[in-house]
Amino acid sequence: MTFFKLNDVYPWQKTPWQQLTNRFPDIAHGLLFFGKNGCGKLDFTSHFVAWVLCLDKQPQQACGQCSSCLWLKSNTHPNYLHITVDEEKKTQPSIKIDKIRELQPFIQQTGEGWRVVVIEPADRLNTAAANALLKTLEEPGDRTILILVTEHFLKLPATIRSRLQRYALDRMTYQQAYSYVKKQLSDDAQVDLKLALGNGMPLQALKEHVWLTHRQEFLEDWIKIVKHKDTPMKYATKWTKTLSFYDFQTMLEYLLADIICVKLQQHIKNTDLDFSEIVRFYSLEQLFHLHEQVQKNKQLNRQNVQTNLMLDQLFTLFMNINGE
Ligand SMILES: [Zn+2]
Repeated sequence: MTFFKLNDVYPWQKTPWQQLTNRFPDIAHGLLFFGKNGCGKLDFTSHFVAWVLCLDKQPQQACGQCSSCLWLKSNTHPNYLHITVDEEKKTQPSIKIDKIRELQPFIQQTGEGWRVVVIEPADRLNTAAANALLKTLEEPGDRTILILVTEHFLKLPATIRSRLQRYALDRMTYQQAYSYVKKQLSDDAQVDLKLALGNGMPLQALKEHVWLTHRQEFLEDWIKIVKHKDTPMKYATKWTKTLSFYDFQTMLEYLLADIICVKLQQHIKNTDLDFSEIVRFYSLEQLFHLHEQVQKNKQLNRQNVQTNLMLDQLFTLFMNINGE
C-alpha cells in the first residue's frame, strides 16, 4: 500500500473518516472497509492506518514527520502488518492459513503504541484462513486494530462479517464523482462517458483505456463484416495487431453489453456511439450467443489457445449470424 499519497480523504469518504476519527480510540477492534472498485478504499485505508499509528495526529491526516510516520514511509513499521495474496501464479490467488498464523506473534507482542493489521482483499481468505482469523477477531489484543478491505462485504463469511464494524467507502452522489473526475481531465466532454465505463467510480473512471479511441472504428468494421460479407480474417488480423487480446476483449464486452441493452431498451454506457445499425443484424438470442463465446475466449486464453485463432473464429461468427 502507498502511504501519504493524500492530504485528505476523498470528498465522498468524509463521513466514515469523521465517524472513525471522532470516536477513536473507542472504535471496534475489527473494521471492515468496503466499496466498489475505483472508490479509493485502499487510499482511505492507508490514510487511516497512518493516522492511527501517528504520534502527532492532525484532524485530517497523520503528521508525516514523527517516528511512526517515518517508519511507514520507509516501509519498516514494526507495528504494522499487511496481509495480502501471493501474486505469483494463478488467476485467483487466495490468502492462506500460514499468513493468518503469522498474525499471532504480531498481535501478542507487547510494546508501546497501537498495532494495525490490514487484510486485503479480504474476500480472498480461504476457508481455513477465515476460520483461523475468527479466533483472532474474538480476542484481539489491546490497542490492536484489524482492518479487512473488500469490494463486496457479502463475499465474506457471515461469521467474520458479524464481528466487524462496517464502513462503506463508495457512497457518493453523481455530482461528487463528476466534479472529481472533471478536475483531473482536460477534456470535459469525456467525463460522463468515463464515469459510465467506470461504473460510476471516480478512480475507475480515470483509468486509461487504450481501446477507448478504437471503439468507433471497430464498430464500423463490424458492420462491414456483417453487411458486405467482407472477409472476417482480414479484420481479425487487423484487430489482433491493433489491440492486445485483453484490451480487445474488454472493448468488445462493453460494446456487446450495450448492444444487448439497446435491444432491451435499457441505458447504455458508450453514450457517444450509435448502435442503431448494428443492433438490427442480430436477434437477442444471437447476441447472448456471441456474449457466451466472448466469455469462453477468456477461458481459452488462460489455457494458452492462440489469440489470433480465437479472433478468426469470433469474426466469422459475427458474419454468419443471419439477421431479421
Ligand atoms: Zn506522525
